[in-house]
Amino acid sequence: MTDADLSLAYRPFSLALAEPLETADGTISAREGFLVRLVDEASDDSVVGYGEATPLAGWTESLADCEQALERAQNALRTGGPSEALEVVDQQVAARHAVSLALADLQATCEATPLYRYLSQGPMIGRVPVNATIGDGSPADTARDVRAAVDRGFDTCKLKVGLRSVEEDVERVRRVRETVSHDVELRADANEAWTYEQAQSALEAFADLDVSMLEQPLPAGALEGHADLRAQNTGVSIALDEGLLEHGVDTICDANAADVVVLKPMALGGIDVARKLAAWLAELEVTPLVTTTIDGVVARTGAVHLAAAIPDVPACGLATGGLLAEDLGRDPVLLEKGSAVVPQAKGLGVDDVWTE
Ligand SMILES: [Mg+2]
Repeated sequence: MTDADLSLAYRPFSLALAEPLETADGTISAREGFLVRLVDEASDDSVVGYGEATPLAGWTESLADCEQALERAQNALRTGGPSEALEVVDQQVAARHAVSLALADLQATCEATPLYRYLSQGPMIGRVPVNATIGDGSPADTARDVRAAVDRGFDTCKLKVGLRSVEEDVERVRRVRETVSHDVELRADANEAWTYEQAQSALEAFADLDVSMLEQPLPAGALEGHADLRAQNTGVSIALDEGLLEHGVDTICDANAADVVVLKPMALGGIDVARKLAAWLAELEVTPLVTTTIDGVVARTGAVHLAAAIPDVPACGLATGGLLAEDLGRDPVLLEKGSAVVPQAKGLGVDDVWTE
């Protein structure tokens, strides 16, 4: 394969959500983005690679900026090859996610290896653990939803908290704990909702209820606050998600602000970037975790390969396909007993998303 033989095409898509989603920028009812296809024209059987750019307000560039970036990448690929195509989208993380994923898919396909092994050069991995995500609801509804997830085989559930009073959230977790045994790992994600005092009282109550992890209790900027919560050694891990984009790995680790850092490949510029961050975090003894930003099947499958390339990754937020009412194509990832079964075909393993 020579660089000059690669051509990049992209097309827009809009995928309806099963339920409207509240975001920092208002309520959205669909995920819009671009599907990217790279073709190696020189290969006999026209080897292809797929990528996906699905911008999300507050996390990535806008849809319009993403489209412009993909057009730049298309031209740069023709004139300067893959490295230049990546360079011209360096500041547009969703576009870079798409281009880098398509390049990696194509390269892994050429090498006849599954994408995660192309990334890790590591052992065969059959499955990665995934968590169920439980939305906000009354204590009874929350307990019912967790029970249903556990019955489907999940042994880790992540509860959205922070939309009600701390007392109500604690009551929700209490009801859940009365419903499921301590074999079920419970996590809570507050999405920056709390003040320090609120976070502190939630943390104490959650510790008593055997919650394993509290994600982003305070606003992204509050690094010291997270470090102080962590220093209380309650047994509940402190995870940062929104805080990663604001501070970066070094600053978070220097501040001792997190036990766990959540990696969203779409917001970080690609699974290649996310994988480097994961290795760096692990070296600094902080646990990396992968979640998606409610993406189509191409990006979701990329995130599954990323998780499979991270040694001993804990349960990840990869079971998000059900949040979409429609998708780009067939999902090659089977969810089974709280795990995602990792595709072992060459490349990403996604093949029917681009129909002429
Ligand atoms: Mg989060």
